[in-house]
Amino acid sequence: MDLVIRNATLVDGRTPIDIAIAAGRIVELGPRLPVQAAREIDAGGDLVTAPFVDAHFHMDATLSYGLPRVNASGTLLEGIALWGELKPQLAQEALVERALQYCDWAVARGLLAIRTHVDVCDDRLLAVEALLDVKRRVAPWIDLQLVAFPQDGLLRSPNAFANLKRAIALGVDVVGGIPHFERTMQQGAESVRLLCEFAAERGLMVDMHCDESDDPLSRHIETLAAETLRLGLGGRVAGSHLTSMHSMDNYYVSKLLPLIAEAGVAAIANPLINITLQGRHDTYPKRRGMTRVPELLAAGVPVAFGHDCVMDPWYGMGSGDMLEVAHMGLHVAQMTGQAAMRQCFDAVTTTAARILGLPDYGIAPGCHADLVLLDAGDPVEAIRLRAARRLVVRRGEIVSEMPAAHARLGLSGRPATVDFRLHRRMAE
Ligand SMILES: [Zn+2]
Repeated sequence: MDLVIRNATLVDGRTPIDIAIAAGRIVELGPRLPVQAAREIDAGGDLVTAPFVDAHFHMDATLSYGLPRVNASGTLLEGIALWGELKPQLAQEALVERALQYCDWAVARGLLAIRTHVDVCDDRLLAVEALLDVKRRVAPWIDLQLVAFPQDGLLRSPNAFANLKRAIALGVDVVGGIPHFERTMQQGAESVRLLCEFAAERGLMVDMHCDESDDPLSRHIETLAAETLRLGLGGRVAGSHLTSMHSMDNYYVSKLLPLIAEAGVAAIANPLINITLQGRHDTYPKRRGMTRVPELLAAGVPVAFGHDCVMDPWYGMGSGDMLEVAHMGLHVAQMTGQAAMRQCFDAVTTTAARILGLPDYGIAPGCHADLVLLDAGDPVEAIRLRAARRLVVRRGEIVSEMPAAHARLGLSGRPATVDFRLHRRMAE
């Protein structure tokens, strides 16, 4: 064996468990395994989980906060306008460097799979080429999945559909969209139809920014679900944000939820961003704006939480910590029961992995030896403490390690990895 982790507690509560790893895979798992390994780690009863997965991110914009100026109103629309000002000034090299820096942070936080949207409305496709380069370079450590995102609207922006098709031809994985940003409800629905047909033709997954609005009549999720049913795309489609659902009429939602479930459409909420960007036209009471997470889960719809933004035109906070995302999601959705808190942990691990379609993900024999040892005893404590990552393992190799003393002192706020940066430089 290459590595054995002893005395671990698993997310389902099994303990003490030894995890034996060879050739990048988990080969055996059980109490007190009679195996020897080149390296042994004593987890001391701490929690071992499969890596964190971010189901919704914008890596082309990350760490650009303040470029060319800060978002004064803090609103979604000023953020989009600001991104429009920044786009022509973007240099590929600087974008790659910012993305790689974020990936360093991610690895140190045990975040080893990220679905990132990439804006395709710039005819140069500069961000697409940059993130395809980043994807290739970080592949040994992070599964990066790219979504072709027509930020300025598929029909509203003149070359958006042609550019989206070019991006897919270059190797972008998933078809994106933004129906609520089109000029009319009708054009929004038309964009959903066109994009779903394109995805069905090419056998691709779909993930749209859908109804990121407080307008209760923004109902593009209904069209997305209906098109998913019509084209047999179930299990391959996600609706991101779905914030208008927060403001919708309850009677309408009682009809909508079973449609989403029947269609096999997944939902991705972005608690940090939804709680700061929604409800901006309200005085008091102010709406929270996040979609109806417990109700979606109760209807059988898989729900993941995404980080969405870190230090960009829309959000000046964040550090790539998916436990912070789960913590906010738990509060905003009032998911405070024991089972509900565990669902919040799943939303940044297993459920997100399922939505991304990650193969061989999990803590079980045969799975990739990708795991995180947390300074916590169970998933709820991990969320409560935003627990330190004692150890991050990718394909059986330790890629980030925090001395136990630091973990205990609560120095978890800082990225601890040096290894990843080292590996990355060597790979170049
Ligand atoms: Zn987004």
